[in-house]
Amino acid sequence: MLRDPHAETSSTSTADAFLSGLREIVGPQGVVTEAADLERYERDWRGNFPGRARAVVRPSTTGQVAAVVRLCAAERVPVVPQGGNTGLAGGSSPDESGREVVLSLTRMNRVRSVSLEDHAMIVEAGCILQNVQEEAARHNRLFPLSLAAEGSATIGGNLASNAGGEQVLRYGNARDLTLGLEVVLPDGRIWNGLSPLRKDNTGYDLKHLFIGSEGTLGVITAASLKLFPLPRQQATAWLGLDTPQQAIDVLVLLRETLGDCVTSFELIGSKTLEQVLAHIVNTRAPLTEATPWSVLVEVSEAARDAQLAERFEAALGDAFERGLVRDVMIAQSSEQAHALWHIRDHVPEAQRRDGPSIKHDLSVPISQIPRFIEETGAALEAAFPGIRLITFGHVGDGNLHYNQSKPAGQSDADFRAQIERVHEIVHEQVAKMSGSISAEHGIGRLKQDALMHYKDPVALDLMTRVKRAFDPDTLFNPGRMLPADKK
Ligand SMILES: Cc1cc2nc3c(=O)[nH]c(=O)nc-3n(C[C@H](O)[C@H](O)[C@H](O)COP(=O)(O)OP(=O)(O)OC[C@H]3O[C@@H](n4cnc5c(N)ncnc54)[C@H](O)[C@@H]3O)c2cc1C
Repeated sequence: MLRDPHAETSSTSTADAFLSGLREIVGPQGVVTEAADLERYERDWRGNFPGRARAVVRPSTTGQVAAVVRLCAAERVPVVPQGGNTGLAGGSSPDESGREVVLSLTRMNRVRSVSLEDHAMIVEAGCILQNVQEEAARHNRLFPLSLAAEGSATIGGNLASNAGGEQVLRYGNARDLTLGLEVVLPDGRIWNGLSPLRKDNTGYDLKHLFIGSEGTLGVITAASLKLFPLPRQQATAWLGLDTPQQAIDVLVLLRETLGDCVTSFELIGSKTLEQVLAHIVNTRAPLTEATPWSVLVEVSEAARDAQLAERFEAALGDAFERGLVRDVMIAQSSEQAHALWHIRDHVPEAQRRDGPSIKHDLSVPISQIPRFIEETGAALEAAFPGIRLITFGHVGDGNLHYNQSKPAGQSDADFRAQIERVHEIVHEQVAKMSGSISAEHGIGRLKQDALMHYKDPVALDLMTRVKRAFDPDTLFNPGRMLPADKK
């Protein structure tokens, strides 16, 4: 069939008019359309979902975000909100249609206020997490959200994915750290919920709908965040253990002895440690003798006279005497502590360099972790002899990153052919233990099938109704979290 030249001209000029409209709102520098410049916005961190954007638009004020959203709504153009693009569920990059506009928040990076008396700060969504932590510290306060991608991830992305990370045990996840939000809705209206209040029972707490909504209900443009006293003392240790049960027993002992001081408690399997030592420069084994399991534990305290180091050492001595740990290395300097965290923080990178891997970010009740590791490991080894179990995670939160790397000698293609069966074995075990198939990375496009399979049908129905109420035309992140046809 011949193309109608008029139709082409008119659709091209409509497209041009749309892009001109975007440029009018954000200025010419705020719209990216060149292929070479688009690439970093179009690929997700893991490279699993390469896509094509109609344009990337980079507003610098809330008013500009609202105007962009109104224009997209008028033209029925789908919008993909994006922060640092470090998300691991395929929710932040465009699909392959070339229709979607990526709305990047990275130019909205101002700290609007810090209040020492309220123990709160208001920041724009595009602020890099590490910059927020540093700004809080300059004011002698702690913003405790902390994760390995903090040098690139933004607060908006952290909240939209309800990020967890390494200090949830003590301070909670992104949801627990948020006092209020400013959000642009799919129809372009602005909801100003930037409250510093800690108590407000005037109806539904709307901020919680947007936190963890993965950009499907609104664009977060700013947040009011909780701050805490800055810790004055900190101690870090690496423990060598024989079993995951010992890790749980040590955690119970430390919490009973030191209370809320226990800030991080990270479990690391021996194969996970081997991968880091093999692939990451400037790393070496913290203990002289290898053990099947390790724990990286950190305690911290804001009070000056708490003698934390002495209490920590005594508690670990107690754990040793009770036979709960085989070996202990207590960091003697901040450099040594940093070296231990360097190992933990480079686990994802080491796995990426090692080759293809199958990933699960799951949670089960803390008490069930040893059983989960034993039973699931046995089932996987029986089905796929030689498969390498790369286990690590925030065990104090019941959250395991339970990943698999291919056996030595297996081809990438043969390993990839097993993905679905591996997921099935792991997710069935999670379901049996009343756990979650996504503890902190979210659903995006990666886990949508599993969500539809394992989530309670009543909960799915309510989620679908919420989506429909906020975004009746399915323009915000369509096909992420909920399938596009389930609007
Ligand atoms: C090495 C590494 C380690 C990680 N460790 C952890 C960890 O320990 N714990 C953890 O929870 N996560 C972790 N992550 C995942 C990721 O860093 C977090 O999910 C982070 O919070 C995402 O922030 P971002 O700004 O990069 O968001 P993006 O990747 O840009 O977006 C994530 C999701 O949020 C949406 N979104 C982004 N900004 C907005 C906004 N302003 N308004 C509305 N929706 C928005 C996107 O559409 C997408 O669905 C890790 C990632 C990497 C690469």
